[in-house]
Amino acid sequence: MFPFDARGLDSVKYTKTALVCGAGGFIGTHLVRRLKSEGYWVRGIDLKQPEFGASEANDFIQADLRNPHIVENAFNVHLDEVYQLAADMGGAGFIFTGDNDAHIMHNSALINLNVLEACHQNDTKRIFYSSSACIYPEHNQLDPDNPLCSEDSAYPANPDSEYGWEKLFSERLYLSYARNYNMNVRIARFHNIFGESGTWQGGREKAPAALCRKIALADADGTIEIWGDGMQTRSFLHVNECIEGILRLTRSDWTGPVNIGSEEMVTINGLAAIIMQIANKKVRIKHIPGPLGVRGRNSDNRLIQKRLGWSPSRPLKEGIRATYDWITSRIMEQAS
Ligand code: NAD
Repeated sequence: MFPFDARGLDSVKYTKTALVCGAGGFIGTHLVRRLKSEGYWVRGIDLKQPEFGASEANDFIQADLRNPHIVENAFNVHLDEVYQLAADMGGAGFIFTGDNDAHIMHNSALINLNVLEACHQNDTKRIFYSSSACIYPEHNQLDPDNPLCSEDSAYPANPDSEYGWEKLFSERLYLSYARNYNMNVRIARFHNIFGESGTWQGGREKAPAALCRKIALADADGTIEIWGDGMQTRSFLHVNECIEGILRLTRSDWTGPVNIGSEEMVTINGLAAIIMQIANKKVRIKHIPGPLGVRGRNSDNRLIQKRLGWSPSRPLKEGIRATYDWITSRIMEQAS
């Protein structure tokens, strides 16, 4: 299963070596592709293979990161960088119902404990950890027009989900290792990442993919359902922008948790309107009860802009168009 030392065999060919945990997931798949395009040797690890096409990793281990022995084995090659993206996660229908809380906390905490300890034992030089905007206190996100999500507003803590609490615990875990063992840890708080090759059906999909699917499947004058009144606000970041942010952060000297998101805030009804325009359909919206999350949320990019000079380069509509086209292709594939 672990046949060679990547650095020993191909030291001339590869710029660096990296382990991507969660390489079979949405952001992990895109990250592997980007690292490969930069000349890295990449090992991916995940419970599952990527859903839409084979991983581009040099070596892909299909295994469970909750098992510390498996994690330790994954470090049997020299690794310059580790990207920890694996988590038990999904959209509002998965993390806000309460039904999956024990799984979410147990599984993701175990993954983080194992991966970070292995990084420590193997003296990994750079570690990236994917936290979430879900760590921000619920009471700062009640006004949909003025949500507060600056990095320094995280405490006193009051996330609205156990998913957010686990992320906050793990942020502190990574920061503790950085402090006590002098490790180079970088932490991003992602705000609603979307795009091609993301989950688009089955219950774990998030709002952009779910709305693209519903509108693509609806008749031109049909009806779609939206949870809540649709006036809750969010911002959404295309996955390509997210990958650029991850790499800039990992390569920077900035050591505190930082937002990676978009400041282009929209209501969920507004997002549906953008998708209808792209689809050239005017469907009716039926508002139904459902799991919602906070009332308002928007990325605050002042810190990342100041420290890393990063902000999204393209408008929301452009990423949504690419995602809509990708989802319509999947629907056509399924139908054929
Ligand atoms: P994803 O669900 O597509 O990817 C996560 C991957 O982790 C999955 O492929 C899953 O199989 C894998 N995984 C779960 N448990 C595992 C285990 N025990 N062993 C091995 N692999 C395991 O999610 P994503 O959208 O790619 O998100 C990546 C990271 O970013 C996650 O940590 C997520 O919490 C965080 N995040 C994502 C968003 C977003 O909008 N996508 C927002 C905030 C934070």
